Amino acid sequence: MKKIQAITGMKDVLPDESPAWQYLEAVITELLQRYGYQEIRFPLLEQTELFKRGIGEATDIVEKEMYTFEDRNGDMLTLRPEGTASCVRACEQHQMLFDRGTLTQKLWYWGPMFRHEKPQKGRLRQFHQFGVEAFGLAGPDIDAELLLMTARLWRELGIADAVTLQINSLGTSESRAAHRAALIEYLEARQDQLDEDSQRRLHTNPLRVFDSKVEQTQALLRDAPMLTDYLDDESRAHFDALCGLLDGCGVAYEVNPRLVRGLDYYSKTVFEWVTDKLGSQGTICGGGRYDALVQQLGGRPTPAIGFGMGVERLILLLRELNCLPEEIFQQLDVYIVAVGDVGPAAMRLAEQVRDMRPETRVQLHCGGGGFRAQMKKADRSGAHIALVLGEDEVNNDQVTVKYLREEREQQTVAVSDLNTILVQE
Ligand code: ATP
Ligand code: MG
Repeated sequence: MKKIQAITGMKDVLPDESPAWQYLEAVITELLQRYGYQEIRFPLLEQTELFKRGIGEATDIVEKEMYTFEDRNGDMLTLRPEGTASCVRACEQHQMLFDRGTLTQKLWYWGPMFRHEKPQKGRLRQFHQFGVEAFGLAGPDIDAELLLMTARLWRELGIADAVTLQINSLGTSESRAAHRAALIEYLEARQDQLDEDSQRRLHTNPLRVFDSKVEQTQALLRDAPMLTDYLDDESRAHFDALCGLLDGCGVAYEVNPRLVRGLDYYSKTVFEWVTDKLGSQGTICGGGRYDALVQQLGGRPTPAIGFGMGVERLILLLRELNCLPEEIFQQLDVYIVAVGDVGPAAMRLAEQVRDMRPETRVQLHCGGGGFRAQMKKADRSGAHIALVLGEDEVNNDQVTVKYLREEREQQTVAVSDLNTILVQE
């Protein structure tokens, strides 16, 4: 019978890869907590309308990337393509943003996101993001702190030299409207040279043309009117203050006036952390300010800023740069080999070791077999030592300690002395 395969662009994370995932999750989660962020979890499925309204009808995501279907009730549902819209929905639904005045919420989440894109290295249809959102803070200080936090993360992961920060300001919707008119005029004059997507975008969402990955389109944009020249005073002051904070804290950045981001909800600050080590899928983290989104989804005006970080791309980068600590792949400390009729004693021994040293990872050999076959499994398990239990050992209340990863004499010791031995390991 033909075997069923996973869906294209949706990957299994196999046991030999999961240590890298667990490591990254642990480092990021701990860092977020150190900066005062709290975890929020929301469903993978939402009403399609949420993303249409939140992300914008004329974006790549909503136009062609969403997994949308009608459920048995006839409701239109979508597998979340990103987290911000859901996060805002949850905050509004649970009145987390308003209590007479504005409340501050600093939140994070992580999990799978779904986009029907062309799968390639660093681009999947089910991928994972860490998302961070801060609500209720309008000033550039929180923008700067988010960037300081990500910069610290790269240092802690050992990849700081491989990533650079690009920032830009999109201004307010008023300043974007003035720029939009000038941009449309410029693009209309060059319409036939634009790629197909960009031609379509020209009138619906001309700013998105800057986001095009087609080189000829990017070349055409070289002399296009820049948002920077249309920035309103407030956005300009916000951006200058952000740059001042980053300078003052020693965070290097590049101002990229072409950086617009692929989602509609951004205003003022936008940023991306990029690397040249992963080919064209070089953005590992992107985000920005979205002061209008909460209101757009039915809430009261609430300033907000956030980012999404691609876990698969980060893991690719960590591998590429050899930055995964070796010890994370060592998943077992002790393998218990039980030879002969010693079943209950071996099981007791395993539990005893687990009582004695809860942090020690112990695997009890199950399924019988001879000494040599069991030792082979012990060796393959990656454990540091094997505890061998035969009938002689059981009769004498002893156990034989065999060192699997170093040239060292085996020793037979009393079970009661095992703790001392394990402490030394
Ligand atoms: P790109 O320009 O590469 O398509 P994007 O602007 O669509 O990225 P965001 O929506 O900002 O990406 O998502 C934040 C991060 O999530 C990206 O910087 C990237 O690291 C990761 N990401 C986005 N789409 C994918 C995908 N299809 N597969 C793997 N990672 C992704
Ligand atoms: Mg994209």
